[in-house]
Amino acid sequence: MSVFVDRITKSFGAKNVLDQISLQVLDGEFTVLLGPSGCGKSTLLRVIAGLETADSGSIQIAGRDVTQLEPRDRDVSMVFQSYALYPHMTVAANIGYPLKIRKTPAIEATALIAEVAERLGLTRLLQSYPRQLSGGERQRVALARAMVRRPKLFLMDEPLSNLDAQLRAKMRGELKHLQHELKTATIYVTHDQAEAMTLAHRIAVMSQGRILQYGTPAEIYNRPSNRFVATFVGSPPMNLLEQADGTALAIRPEHVEVASAPASGWLPARVWLSEQLGNETLVQLKTESQIITARLPPDTSWTFDQPVWYRFRTDRVLQLPVETQEKRP
Ligand code: ADP
Ligand code: MG
Repeated sequence: MSVFVDRITKSFGAKNVLDQISLQVLDGEFTVLLGPSGCGKSTLLRVIAGLETADSGSIQIAGRDVTQLEPRDRDVSMVFQSYALYPHMTVAANIGYPLKIRKTPAIEATALIAEVAERLGLTRLLQSYPRQLSGGERQRVALARAMVRRPKLFLMDEPLSNLDAQLRAKMRGELKHLQHELKTATIYVTHDQAEAMTLAHRIAVMSQGRILQYGTPAEIYNRPSNRFVATFVGSPPMNLLEQADGTALAIRPEHVEVASAPASGWLPARVWLSEQLGNETLVQLKTESQIITARLPPDTSWTFDQPVWYRFRTDRVLQLPVETQEKRP
């Protein structure tokens, strides 16, 4: 076990930001904290790093209780959204800064810097200054700086969110490959579900200071355990069918079938909206009680108010439990 977070609670004034958070990260595991802005992701990461003090609870890293230790004694490296490179230092000096602080001998430091620069494709930029680099290159320098020390744990707080969409997707791939090579336990914060789904071995979905579900991307996607996870992960979200007893049935848009002629067992609806996206068509159906979204092949065409018939793939319908007002995110 690499990280063991045990019932961490944290308030700022009267605001309870982390509510009994427990989380375990296995050796070499990439865990993503996924949740909307303000749910407490950064605070949890900062508590694990030692930059914030928890009100109660404990943290172990690589078998050692670090709850009372200073950040520098926890053997973790953190990468922030604002990568904060030193403008007056070269790329090599920026990458080597954590080694300098720890008084690593120069020959050893030079070798470590060269190795991590090579891994991140920065070798030809080692003598450049941050202002001469593109956004993606700067982010790579920040990653290199975090990796040069080979910590027990990486903590990354939305490290790609300053990049444009295309670069983001590219860096996401690079990060995933790096993790495969380094096999260092990582806790990665994002509000971007595509990042969470592609990078994570396991995703912890957070809302309002709690972890609502912790599982593999496939578990989170295929078997969400509550309404929040069912509708936060997946785009468009799952359709929820509220039942009189307070439970709900959930079905993904790709598991709704639609036909233009009636058949036995199919229910009537009308086309409320059809969006052709090239690779697929999203159709919103107006039933007697609600709107249901279906994900359909791109070659079908639908018109406003067209009468249609639909059915669910019954083996893909999930039952979600009653949620009390108190627990509702
Ligand atoms: P996230 O990273 O998920 O967007 P944060 O952990 O940054 O969320 O913040 C969670 C909540 O805690 C927010 O309501 C935020 O305003 C509050 N918060 C965070 N840091 C502080 C602080 N230093 N002082 C007071 N409130 C804070
Ligand atoms: Mg944050």
